[in-house]
Amino acid sequence: MPLPKADLVLRNGRIWCGLDSGFVESIAIWRGRVLATGKESEIASLIGPATRKVDLAGRLAIPAFNDNHMHLLPLGMSMVEVDVRATEVRTMEALLGRIKAAADKAAPGEWVVGRGYDHFELDLKRHPLREELDLVAPHNPVYIKRTCGHVGVANSLALQAGGIVEESPNPQGGALERQNGRLTGLLMETAQRLVGTVIPKPSVAAMVDGIQRAGQECASYGIASVMDANVGARCGMDEIAAYETARRLGRLPVRTYMCLAGGPAGIVETAYARGLVTKAGDDMLKIGPVKVFTDGSAGGRTAAMFEPYEGGDDHDKGILVYKDEDVRDMVLDYHGKGYQMALHGIGDHAIQICLDAVENAQARIPAADRRHRIEHCGFMSDQQIDQMARLGMSPAPQPIFMYDFGDLYISVLGEERAATGYPMRRWTSAGVRPAASTDSPVCSINPFVNLYATVTRKTSRGTVLGGQERLDVAEALHAMTANGAYVSFCEADKGTLAPGMLADVAILSRDVFTCDPEAIRHDTRCDVTLRGGVASFDRHGEMAA
Ligand SMILES: [Zn+2]
Repeated sequence: MPLPKADLVLRNGRIWCGLDSGFVESIAIWRGRVLATGKESEIASLIGPATRKVDLAGRLAIPAFNDNHMHLLPLGMSMVEVDVRATEVRTMEALLGRIKAAADKAAPGEWVVGRGYDHFELDLKRHPLREELDLVAPHNPVYIKRTCGHVGVANSLALQAGGIVEESPNPQGGALERQNGRLTGLLMETAQRLVGTVIPKPSVAAMVDGIQRAGQECASYGIASVMDANVGARCGMDEIAAYETARRLGRLPVRTYMCLAGGPAGIVETAYARGLVTKAGDDMLKIGPVKVFTDGSAGGRTAAMFEPYEGGDDHDKGILVYKDEDVRDMVLDYHGKGYQMALHGIGDHAIQICLDAVENAQARIPAADRRHRIEHCGFMSDQQIDQMARLGMSPAPQPIFMYDFGDLYISVLGEERAATGYPMRRWTSAGVRPAASTDSPVCSINPFVNLYATVTRKTSRGTVLGGQERLDVAEALHAMTANGAYVSFCEADKGTLAPGMLADVAILSRDVFTCDPEAIRHDTRCDVTLRGGVASFDRHGEMAA
């Protein structure tokens, strides 16, 4: 039977279809899926009078990116917070100026929330003080979060709203910083919740706006699929409602796999009672795994390690969120209910607890092809990688952490241990499938920085950290596309550009296979993103009729 005429044909460039299939000259798309790929002469017969022809003009097209560990809704909400990132403000005066401008516009009593400052990058090399925030925003509670998300600064009205007084004790797992016995406003780790829980929660309508805003941002980088890695963590089931509403209104720009907040404060009991188990949904919006945190972060010295942190005593090995048996019981429960797991584990000790919990669950209730995941999965031994492979598990790492935090890792872990982190090569060799992702808004959603970090293992200061863990460009793109599809059970539909697959395509401004690696990071853009053959982003308007 002859093939139908294509709706859309891309030609006159290079199209990378995937790790196994390599490059073709042209691709034909029909009804949202790939109709055929091949030489330009082969595809020519599929061009009819109504076929739209896109001239790649030497550019590269690839399967659209799949960022399978990021936080879409928080990214969208953060985009309307006051931006005090180091890329925006370099001085304390500039930072305070931005807060003042926002407070001047706000009604008295309205919260002003800022995000992303980095005191190391500010001229004064310190956090803002609560009094400084009081001066620029005397009538508004203010809370600004450091780029890492682990600490933040509140002004006096915000402290008051959170019920924090000078005599308040440090909460379990957190601290209220004091200087000369007086609160500075700096809240660390769990102490942030005292303020975080009184910042008014967004309405479902505001969350729909946030989802759309963040989804458009993703599309502008060639991303067609994401996993939101902690749905329900802040606003419970309302977050699911916001996603469903966004989807029904056509305001969900990216295919979204929803990882449900697990644990005692999560939404899994409610979700399960409504039939929302892993894989429920369709190719735009689907229920994903259950998230359980087992430790903190390496940069914050809270990832649970077997060996102490640099310069620390014997007890300085990070924190475990739960007792081993609690993790084991939770995993057994969720596994028994049919969920995929997404266990946050960064230190080798935490990772061991995750692996053993899955091993136990699979022994008690064998379930083939469950694809349990370890999120981040930073620091692990070869033996642990073997166990992971044996259990059919996958890591969901952030190579971009090496770029953003690599120098910090050297200082807290020592260079040798830091260099073993995020072992993309060891994983690939062991046959596990790392789904390279960004954890945005922790790191930039920009996939080109992630790609750069994967192929160079360079930190932002240019230090090569663990060069033996480099992947080549094809392997790295595979980790950012096909592996993301695999860990979300979608590899039959996306991640490669074979006939029959969804026509999710990114057209890049340059050929990342042939350019200098430095140009990948600082001079590569996405020009067009297709999701199901339709443009979800079109930088130059070339897809317009
Ligand atoms: Zn995350």
